[in-house]
Amino acid sequence: VGGVTVRFAGAGDAFGNGGRFQTCIVLQAEGEERLTLVDCGASSLVALKRLGIDPGAVDAIVLSHLHGDHFGGIPFFVLDAQFTRREKPLLIAGPPGTQARVRASMEVFFPGSSAVQRRFELVFAEYAGDAGGAEIAAGAFAVSAFEVVHASGAPAFALRLRCGDKVVAYSGDTEWTAALIGAARDADLFVCEAYTFERPTKFHLSYAALREHRAELGARRVILTHMGPEMLAHLGGVPDETAADGLTLTL
Ligand SMILES: [Zn+2]
Ligand SMILES: [Zn+2]
Repeated sequence: VGGVTVRFAGAGDAFGNGGRFQTCIVLQAEGEERLTLVDCGASSLVALKRLGIDPGAVDAIVLSHLHGDHFGGIPFFVLDAQFTRREKPLLIAGPPGTQARVRASMEVFFPGSSAVQRRFELVFAEYAGDAGGAEIAAGAFAVSAFEVVHASGAPAFALRLRCGDKVVAYSGDTEWTAALIGAARDADLFVCEAYTFERPTKFHLSYAALREHRAELGARRVILTHMGPEMLAHLGGVPDETAADGLTLTL
């Protein structure tokens, strides 16, 4: 099996700090046309099109948790797919409650859009357990989910996406929890939120807390994302890799 390309369509927090788009990470396995999205924030359709990425190539959207900056782009994505006459199924995988929350968001933004007849099937899968659970097939990737600590009206998860012998792990939003150790174990890349630099914030990870636990993470490479104003102001003095909109990595 070849490599995996990781592209940050959105590497921002919920509030547009740094002018960054909300979370949306595009995964592509070598030799595959199809794409898997990890999170789809409210701005994600714009972010994808800005990079010239065809939403029609996306087979699966994998969600860490049900906050608007991580799943709020789905109503726009689905309606755009309908208007561009998509025919292949779209998988949306997420925490328990994903199907109901996605439907509700579609009805709020575009009344009638959740029940309309489409040319393509919308398929939902919801994570079962809190210790990895059974893998869910999402495009070319097998996904397992690790429950983390982030209030969002449903359980929140860190994710581990495997394709052959390559593993991309992602923290989602969370304060420090040992679940991240399981999610990031031996990962080729661990995409980790660092919302603040030093300031502790409930349900989020500070860079200071991450540094404290850095040695416990078995990931080969770590890249920081979802950075708020305090963290962005300190970027110059941060030795770790940091994500930016449009950044592409090949593993
Ligand atoms: Zn967030
Ligand atoms: Zn969140």
